[in-house]
Amino acid sequence: MDSLIAQNLAQVHTDIAAACEAAGRLADSVQLLAVSKTWGPEAVRAAHAAGQTAFGENYIQEAVEKMAALRDLPLQWHCIGPIQSNKTKLVAEHFDWVHSIDRLKIAQRLSEQRPPTLAPLQVCIQVNVDGGSTKSGVSPPELPALAQAVAALPHLQLRGLMTIPEPAETEAQMRAVHAKAKALFESLRQQGLPLDTLSMGMSADLAPAIAQGSTLVRLGTAIFGKR
Ligand SMILES: *Cc1c(COP(=O)(O)O)cnc(C)c1O
Repeated sequence: MDSLIAQNLAQVHTDIAAACEAAGRLADSVQLLAVSKTWGPEAVRAAHAAGQTAFGENYIQEAVEKMAALRDLPLQWHCIGPIQSNKTKLVAEHFDWVHSIDRLKIAQRLSEQRPPTLAPLQVCIQVNVDGGSTKSGVSPPELPALAQAVAALPHLQLRGLMTIPEPAETEAQMRAVHAKAKALFESLRQQGLPLDTLSMGMSADLAPAIAQGSTLVRLGTAIFGKR
């Protein structure tokens, strides 16, 4: 299993570099988040041995147990799944990043519960760019006010936006969705928010997301295999 994960990681880095080159971007301008949900500590350990340090998790309880088993490694943990109010304390105490802020109440709780001994929690706001009904995320009209409010909270640092586009029928549609996310990101920057992270792009839309300015792509299956 270990050598397969290393091979998959090498392939993913090749794909990211190719997409960057096609878009006229530097290969190191896109960060890889390895989505390790449902995989055990051994899989994460194998990916770390192959050079991966940032891992994404959706299920809080599962993630916290995994972190405990991997305490000996210098890993960075990103929460990318929906967060219920009763889970904010665990998230604030254990994660380095949260990509899935979609309402102020959750951000406020994370801010209050972040232990002052830890670095500020790095956060992205999840935005529902294409109006997909099955998933969470703030709607574009509500984004500017939420971003300003989150940016003002102590113990959090607002870094950018996260989006999970619905699979689109055509490449042009996909491109339009990514371009809209990029435009929202740039308009917040123009309002003075020092954002540097656009968390956009999964297996199915890696290249188009990178072409439209993604700075972080989230891949699970391509690295660890089918869940
Ligand atoms: C599961 C998940 C991913 C990774 O999905 P794969 O299809 O395994 O690459 C990326 N982003 C989010 C938000 C996820 O929940």
